[in-house]
Amino acid sequence: MNDILNADLHCHSRVSDGTLEPEQLAARARANGVELWALTDHDEIGGQQRAMEAALALGMPYLTGTEISVSFAHKVVHVVGLGFDHENEQLREGLRQTRGGRERRAHEMAAGLAKVGIHGAFEGARQYVGNPELISRTHFARFLVEAGHCNDVSEVFRRFLTEGKPGFVEHRWAGLGEAVRWITEAGGVAVIAHPARYGFTPTEEYALITEFMTHGGRGIEVVTGSHSAAEAVQYAGVAEEFGLLASRGSDFHSPDESRTDLGLLDLLPGRLNPVWAALETRIHTPASA
Ligand code: AMP
Ligand code: MN
Ligand code: MN
Ligand code: MN
Repeated sequence: MNDILNADLHCHSRVSDGTLEPEQLAARARANGVELWALTDHDEIGGQQRAMEAALALGMPYLTGTEISVSFAHKVVHVVGLGFDHENEQLREGLRQTRGGRERRAHEMAAGLAKVGIHGAFEGARQYVGNPELISRTHFARFLVEAGHCNDVSEVFRRFLTEGKPGFVEHRWAGLGEAVRWITEAGGVAVIAHPARYGFTPTEEYALITEFMTHGGRGIEVVTGSHSAAEAVQYAGVAEEFGLLASRGSDFHSPDESRTDLGLLDLLPGRLNPVWAALETRIHTPASA
């Protein structure tokens, strides 16, 4: 397979906090020229079968995917899993546990918002939820915009949903080692998602990468809708320095909210080892290809 593929290995459907169905995303990816696709819903693989069938029907190669929420150094880190067996019991159970506390957290978030005069946020957010086990901050953000409290979802996160703000609730997610193990023991490759987003010091970032690799993690996102061009250059260097496989993905959530559309981002620098080269046997290929 060509090394510099238009691969989009990070996006979200209504099965987590995206606004499109897996089939709509597949069609959009195909129309945008994506040559290898993965749907990576947060803490959930319930959309994998649909995404894979839709991709293959459109003649587009597919890798299974998910994005696991992990607690690390008092922050939330996202670990993308690619190319695993989506029927693996340990992975399914681990993700089920990770989703487990979301409803309780959502009630606590709503209580925090009520204290600053925003009432009915739980019911409001729930209107946007596609999967009852996956109520996320994004659904609250959509409700707060719709109810006129903010102009867009970024403003909601800034004013209400990040650390120290009224709707933020500390939460215990999966452990780093657990998440990496669930993915790798199901035959997949674990990838650190959007590393520039965490605001880690160089020391914290070094600890994240080395601990991740100790657990068997092998990849890092370099070109993503969550990185600037300068950050992509920076993390291309990090991938080389640590010998990590490089990944690429839009992190597309919604036509109305996402700056980067499926497949419409820079290609990976040619000198890097792309994660898909290590997953060749895990790629689902259309019958006609
Ligand atoms: P949760 O898993 O419920 O904590 O929600 C996390 C999700 O919120 C992320 O996956 C993003 O989709 C979204 N998100 C986080 N920070 C921001 C932000 N600053 N602006 C817009 N969306 C954000
Ligand atoms: Mn999201
Ligand atoms: Mn993420
Ligand atoms: Mn994401």
